[in-house]
Amino acid sequence: MYLSEIFFGWQGEGLHAGAPQVFVRTAGCPLRCAYCDTPESLVKTPACAVHLAGEYDEREILTSPNPVTIHWTLLQVERLARRAGGVHSVSITGGEPLAQDHWTGELAGRLKQAGFSTYLETAGIYADRFARIASLFDIVAADVKIPSAAEERPRWKEHAAFLAAALPPRTFVKAVVNSRTSDEEIERAARLVAARSDAIPFFIQPASRSASAAAPDTAQMRRWAAIASAHLRRVHVAGQWHLPKQSAGAPFSAPSVA
Ligand code: SF4
Repeated sequence: MYLSEIFFGWQGEGLHAGAPQVFVRTAGCPLRCAYCDTPESLVKTPACAVHLAGEYDEREILTSPNPVTIHWTLLQVERLARRAGGVHSVSITGGEPLAQDHWTGELAGRLKQAGFSTYLETAGIYADRFARIASLFDIVAADVKIPSAAEERPRWKEHAAFLAAALPPRTFVKAVVNSRTSDEEIERAARLVAARSDAIPFFIQPASRSASAAAPDTAQMRRWAAIASAHLRRVHVAGQWHLPKQSAGAPFSAPSVA
């Protein structure tokens, strides 16, 4: 399995923001979203880095050449979870985990056998691959890519097929937006999610990094929340939260919220 890094941290977005997790970041993604905050994970990296001292902490890093084995990955997850004193869940994130669906499924199965809750973060475009392993995930955070923000071709059909394979009680959806996002895009995304279940939580999230567009203003966010709420029962407006990159030993400062 090609991984870029494994580390302990706190979930930065969505329904479980703030939850302590071990993150297993897969390497390789077929998309190139303009707001991508993990550009180093878009290709198959030569090695996987395990951040033993914590996210962004350079003091103790173990590396292993890719591809790594599932057994080795599980040992690293267990080690980090033990150091953290327990975690809410293990996030298999990316990159795009379903670009390596076979190995992502193998890893999720082994994690569950070891007693971990499993959390999948995905672009939500690989319905068939997901359907084969969906039962192995306790929580699924699926994107609906908004073309104006992602600056990618529309993926509406792929997202609809993906959500058809998802289990609504375990799934929430994130739509990243920027100032160029239109009301029509939000309407379309909300209708698409509601076609699966109007109980699926829907997050409208301002892009934290964008190649070419500003963040949306408050009036836009209010309007989009109202548009989505006409179709969905649980609409959230929330930014992305991450620990700031700073040197080890520096005082903890309030993270930026995009
Ligand atoms: S799907 Fe995720 S990892 Fe891939 S380019 Fe988009 S934001 Fe980055």
